[in-house]
Amino acid sequence: MIAPIVRFAPSPTGLLHVGNIRAALFNWLFAKRNGGTFILRLDDTDRLRSKPEFEAGIERDLEWLGLDWACKEKQSDRLAHYDTARDRLVRAGRLYPCYETPEELEFRRKRLLSQGRPPVYDRAALKLSDADRARLEGEGRRPHWRFKLVSEEVRWDDLVRGPQHIDEASQSDPVLVRADGTYLYSFTSVVDDIAFAITHVIRGEDHVTNSGAQIQMFQALDAAVPAFGHLPLLVDATGGGLSKRTGSLAVADLRGRGIEALAVCGLLARLGTADPVEPIASLDALVATVDFARVGRAAARFSEEELAQLNARTLHILPYEAVQARLPEDLGEAFWLAVRGNLATLADAAGWAEVVRGPIEPKIEDADFLGLAAAQLPVEPWSETTWKAWTSGLAATGRKGRALFHPLRLALTARETGPEMARLLPLIGRAKAEARLRGRAA
Ligand code: GLU
Repeated sequence: MIAPIVRFAPSPTGLLHVGNIRAALFNWLFAKRNGGTFILRLDDTDRLRSKPEFEAGIERDLEWLGLDWACKEKQSDRLAHYDTARDRLVRAGRLYPCYETPEELEFRRKRLLSQGRPPVYDRAALKLSDADRARLEGEGRRPHWRFKLVSEEVRWDDLVRGPQHIDEASQSDPVLVRADGTYLYSFTSVVDDIAFAITHVIRGEDHVTNSGAQIQMFQALDAAVPAFGHLPLLVDATGGGLSKRTGSLAVADLRGRGIEALAVCGLLARLGTADPVEPIASLDALVATVDFARVGRAAARFSEEELAQLNARTLHILPYEAVQARLPEDLGEAFWLAVRGNLATLADAAGWAEVVRGPIEPKIEDADFLGLAAAQLPVEPWSETTWKAWTSGLAATGRKGRALFHPLRLALTARETGPEMARLLPLIGRAKAEARLRGRAA
């Protein structure tokens, strides 16, 4: 394959959420796997709704996820290119002015529906004479512009969905330029995809119908048509769309709740695919396996519980170097390896740091036994074999199993459960261990 050029094209009109991130991730993985280029394109032609803070948020989220981009383009910087392409389509007779008001269009739409006919735009504007247009403009009407579709079946072999066909005869000619002269995304996207030589358009399934008209726009502008891949949408456990809840599924929100970027990527890359959801220690593990053929056609179910579980499983495998800079308190590699298996979020490490560092108030279940245990603590230096050696000696008291181990854990950590004591004990050290066993805060 020639090196692909792909883009992620969010509109900076809101926060990125798991739905958009899935498209970003697949584009990025596909580019990485094939030695290609991943471009960030901000679809910010909607001047009213696009906000610099959302643009900054998008960049921060992508950086956090580890999805780096080769270059950033903003549609608002490229208006002259759209003007040129618009004029070209007008000259070719593929873009034509229309003067209907939204009310007139709505009236016609309802009439067609009541006649049991599809509500397709009737191209009445194509029948206007120069004199008609002059009169309408004299009345103060400004035209919006529609792309004249060719009445044929558009076909493409979708990377995800397989062979697709859309009968453009059953579609309305799409509006590409509004009456105020601003452009619609479906047009600016094609102009940019041509300008940046995009080879693969990978995006959500909600754009499938757009693709039919967009393919005709590529052709009308004499450009090569890229490959298309449409990912199924994400749904919640009830099968409903995630849109209502995007607030809580915003990437920034997940980050704030202590979810690891690798858990977000690990889940989104595998959800709805033939491959199992597994914890990953780096994005490289996903690069090697990304394959559109393994993405199912059905909507993928996203569950926050599954994300939380994967988050914990991810922490359980992360090496010290991957988390060191972010640890709430860095007590060294042995500490990390001891506690990582007991974390739901990285922030939980703070509680175990406190147990190791102290002071904590021990929980005393059986003072006599604990006093005996304190007296038998081996001399330092301690290692991960110390616990075994010490507790084997304590078996002489006749205690075994939970009756032996649980009072020790409670006194040494003040918690019912936790990391392996063999690993914690040397981190706590003899002085604190002895004090705690004797009932003193340490
Ligand atoms: N701005 C569009 C969106 O966010 C981009 C779609 C595309 O990738 O072409 O839906």
